[in-house]
Amino acid sequence: MAVYIKDIIKIIENFAPLYYQESYDNAGVQVGDVEQEAKGVLVTLDITVAVMDEAIAKGCNCIIAHHPLIFSAIRKITGKNETEQCIIKAIKHNIVLYAAHTNLDNMLLGVNKVIADRLQLRDAAILAPDTRHSLCKFICYVPPAYVEQVKNAIFNAGGGSIGNYSECSFTVSGTGTFRPGTDADPAIGVAGGPREAVEELKLEVLIPAYLSSAVLNAVRAVGYYEEVAYEIIPLNNTDQGIGAGYTGTLATPMEVPAFLAYLKDRMQLKVIRYAGQPRGPIRKVAVCGGSGSFLLQAAKGAQADIFITADYKYHQFFEAGNDILIADIGHYESEIFTNGLFLELLASRYPGLKIEATSVCTNPVKYYY
Ligand SMILES: [Zn+2]
Repeated sequence: MAVYIKDIIKIIENFAPLYYQESYDNAGVQVGDVEQEAKGVLVTLDITVAVMDEAIAKGCNCIIAHHPLIFSAIRKITGKNETEQCIIKAIKHNIVLYAAHTNLDNMLLGVNKVIADRLQLRDAAILAPDTRHSLCKFICYVPPAYVEQVKNAIFNAGGGSIGNYSECSFTVSGTGTFRPGTDADPAIGVAGGPREAVEELKLEVLIPAYLSSAVLNAVRAVGYYEEVAYEIIPLNNTDQGIGAGYTGTLATPMEVPAFLAYLKDRMQLKVIRYAGQPRGPIRKVAVCGGSGSFLLQAAKGAQADIFITADYKYHQFFEAGNDILIADIGHYESEIFTNGLFLELLASRYPGLKIEATSVCTNPVKYYY
């Protein structure tokens, strides 16, 4: 069966909705026609000319990247820099370029979970949950025969996820009453008739507030009543599954030199730049793939012994003090295993499709030592 590029993108966006990207970001389709059939998918951290050439050579017409190729407005496309050269190659060879960036960073199971898993952290949770993203309770009253269909509609629209659990709901049975108006087209009773009483299930599901309309439309589309009885109640709950960074604990605390060796090995690093001093052995670990220095206070607040991230500047290293150890492992190194996340997400869905990670090291930083 043909797989279209838009189907591949849908899987990624179900996992990491574009809604959750930061305001400065430009995640999503960068270039190309997503309506075409996918011939092969190449996964990469960065889109470079070398990656484009690899995709062309391998017959891949879809490149899934972590970092967007295009950030700011482009007024001319003449091939004067690498970004424009990639755009020209993509258009010439009909290749779709797509990026899942801060939307993937902000997911409970995204970029930082990959790092936490490599370090075998326990009790992992988001370091700084994003309080801008509120939850609602969606309640509707459904005839028992339709409740599974309605649940599926809500779950497929993105409702019912709590942390590591999906398809969460609660039902309780009761009796609903209604009296059809003269212009009604009731599923039970007759227009202008007497009051009816029916057995119904009250179905309750937590949904992200931004999905309220999508969920309501999906429920209406089931078509069990002319008039769907529903309530959408705003909650004070913060979505704990959305936010920046991660924390977790080691099964066994390690002294600093032992942990640095462990970190170097697990993340396949050439070098670690570090500063500061934790209060004791490393037990609690905070991580943020990419440029994460903005999370230092959150890491300290979470009582982390070490904060692992990238792109630290000289003066920022002083902020470690005697509370915490800052470990800068390099931007590319902190995120390269995200490629495995893309592969995992897509390969199981499309076993017959060529889906592979780039063989190009796109890290612009080289080490001389
Ligand atoms: Zn990055």
